[in-house]
Amino acid sequence: MNIHEYQAKAILNKYGVAIQNGIVATTPEEAVEAAKQMHASSGQSWVVVKSQIHAGGRGKGNIVGTEQRGVALAKNLDAVKEISTNILGNVLVTIQTGEKGKKVSKVLVAEDVYYPGASEPKEYYMSVLLDRQTSQNVIIYTTEGGMDIEEVAEHTPEKIHKEWIDPLTGLTGFQARKIAYNLGLSGQANKEMVKFVTALYKAYEETDSAMFEINPVLKTSDDKILAVDAKVDIDDNALYRHADLAELRDESEEDPTEVEAKKSNLNYVKLDGNVGCMVNGAGLAMATMDIIKLSGGEPANFLDVGGTANAQTVEAGFRIILSDPNVKAILVNVFGGIVRCDRVAQGIVDAYNNIGNIPVPIIVRLQGTNAEEGKKLIDDSGLKVFSAIQLKEAADLVKQVLS
Ligand code: GDP
Ligand code: MN
Repeated sequence: MNIHEYQAKAILNKYGVAIQNGIVATTPEEAVEAAKQMHASSGQSWVVVKSQIHAGGRGKGNIVGTEQRGVALAKNLDAVKEISTNILGNVLVTIQTGEKGKKVSKVLVAEDVYYPGASEPKEYYMSVLLDRQTSQNVIIYTTEGGMDIEEVAEHTPEKIHKEWIDPLTGLTGFQARKIAYNLGLSGQANKEMVKFVTALYKAYEETDSAMFEINPVLKTSDDKILAVDAKVDIDDNALYRHADLAELRDESEEDPTEVEAKKSNLNYVKLDGNVGCMVNGAGLAMATMDIIKLSGGEPANFLDVGGTANAQTVEAGFRIILSDPNVKAILVNVFGGIVRCDRVAQGIVDAYNNIGNIPVPIIVRLQGTNAEEGKKLIDDSGLKVFSAIQLKEAADLVKQVLS
């Protein structure tokens, strides 16, 4: 589960990670009030107005049809008002949102932390995530933080350091000091970085997160180390033991059909193709997507209805697939192992009758226990469904109905 920057920063703050402070606003008036408060508490006369969406690249992204960036510096209250008016209620397109963009309904009005001083402010990058290859958490960090991190990864990967954490010892003091040293820090900034990475790792572990990404981590001109941005992905499977974190879910940021599917306990991921698919079992669903591609179609989704496909789940699945206007055909691929094919076939016929008037052809492939009986049920139903037993037949049917 992804959360907003302002929510991630609140978590960091709770675990003792120093952050760029800010206040959330939903209207330009609130943004101005927030800026006044930030001026008072930080002593800085500038603030940054930051769009809150579940996607990065905001600093380089634009509000649709304007020159307004998704993150902007405001040097006075008039500018705060203007920028937040430009942003709020409008759509921000970044490299991570796709061309459709995301509507912004909140901005974070944050203190300006790039103020001049004894040294230049400097941006670093740091993330914590699980390395599945080594079964260990890993801290990834580099001196080359900021908005061009993808370029660094591509062109100068040797500048990116990794520190693997032994689950038995956790992050050791030695490792934290090594990271601060590799980042070229000395004196006060070094001490602050040791504190920063230690607290960051604790926040990651104790929230059962899948990823914490801080870019940039900023060394201010007076040697403070702060999280200026924060991207957090909390492990959905651990949310049951973090009621407070589960509440941070913002469903308006998620694909509405995926939210709907979750309610029916279906495992659904929307894709961009034209052939909807409904399958029992995740592995079979992957194989089915391959078959669709091989027969010249593009899958419109991944949908695993689980082990016990019945009339209700099949109906919910059809409705979700059909809500996607790109879908030109549906391939149902069911393997009857524990579930009997004739029961699934009956479920399909019932669901079909309940929905009524399905505008696209449905190809049903049933294999396994009682496959013949299932095929007969569908053939006899008088419905506009094609039935097939071999996967090859099903694929050929998909090709036929698409051409
Ligand atoms: P992202 O583009 O979505 O990753 O958003 P960030 O929160 O990382 O902000 C983008 C950029 O805005 C940062 O890399 C900074 O260069 C800039 N920025 C963020 N906070 C401040 C600030 O307090 N002052 C100034 N001058 N720039 C800032
Ligand atoms: Mn960032």
